[in-house]
Amino acid sequence: MSKSPEEVHPKKAFGWAARDASGVLSPFKFSRRETGVEDVAFKVLYCGICHSDLHANKNEWATSMYPLLPGHEIIGEVTEVGSKVTKFKVGDKVGVGCLVGSCHACDNCKNNLENYCPKLIFTYNNIDHDGTVTYGGYSNFMVANEHFVLRIPEGLPLDAVAPLLCAGITVFSPLKFNGFTEPGTSIGVVGLGGLGHVAVKFAKAMGAKVTVISTSPAKEKEAVEHLGADAFIVCKNPQQMQAAMGTMDGIIDTVSAAHAILPLIGLLKYQGKLVMLGIPEKPLELPVFPLVFGRKIVTGSCIGGLKETQEMLDFAAKHNITADIEVISMDYVNTALERLAKGDVRYRFVIDVANTLKEA
Ligand SMILES: [Zn+2]
Ligand SMILES: [Zn+2]
Repeated sequence: MSKSPEEVHPKKAFGWAARDASGVLSPFKFSRRETGVEDVAFKVLYCGICHSDLHANKNEWATSMYPLLPGHEIIGEVTEVGSKVTKFKVGDKVGVGCLVGSCHACDNCKNNLENYCPKLIFTYNNIDHDGTVTYGGYSNFMVANEHFVLRIPEGLPLDAVAPLLCAGITVFSPLKFNGFTEPGTSIGVVGLGGLGHVAVKFAKAMGAKVTVISTSPAKEKEAVEHLGADAFIVCKNPQQMQAAMGTMDGIIDTVSAAHAILPLIGLLKYQGKLVMLGIPEKPLELPVFPLVFGRKIVTGSCIGGLKETQEMLDFAAKHNITADIEVISMDYVNTALERLAKGDVRYRFVIDVANTLKEA
């Protein structure tokens, strides 16, 4: 006989969830599983608001299951560990990013690339091993297998580190994988939002020469003076684009709106790589001519594995890298989501869950 939902998930929990494609969040009571032998339970302290949350809340990728409780940039403090847990103890500061499960048997899992496992389980709006729907970090506590729990290094502010668990690893992994970490490498970063601003920080810390490529001339001062970019190009300025032709080893493209990639391919050196991180709703036009005649590469990247995510956090601690954030209370979340949809945030909202999430 199959177990009732209360038997599978006996621990009472609460948070804020979307109930339909309006995407409006409201207080929601649910339950989580008992802490298993390999599980870590933790009280949620902070949770970042990722652009994916916005898409998921509104069913814009047509995969949403309601009630949908988002959040995959989660920082917490351990309250309980299972008997076989080796990495964590009660009181540790921990994080959970986009993944809470994978098969552990495929080639990608064996190579610490759980993020490319065909059976990966996302932190929210996905079906867990026990057949229940996963709920994210806009909630009072989490239970996760220790393999998917990250150690937060000492010295990093717990609110501003939260966005690194998605935005941070999403840019860190392709910078490393594509060889953009060689000192002196010339890197372009397209789009100066949640991903772009941390891409500039990581690339600079790795020793790259970083050029921000933006549609908005108003962002130059911010990019150069505040974030430390070496140069700034307005992509609608033909003189600036022309002057930068063939100068970049790699470009990290964080823009998820439809946009032309031909001008970006033009900025690349021979054998340069354009890495797509944003996911436009419709296919982009791919100009083959400049790829053939420059042996150039257009590629993509999706978050990172757990080993590399820990490496990213340790690198961030060493180089004092965090996201620029606006801390908000739980009851501000709907306003924050509206502002995020308009690009009105510098650069990531983080919910102060521990202090502002009240049981309804
Ligand atoms: Zn995300
Ligand atoms: Zn796998």
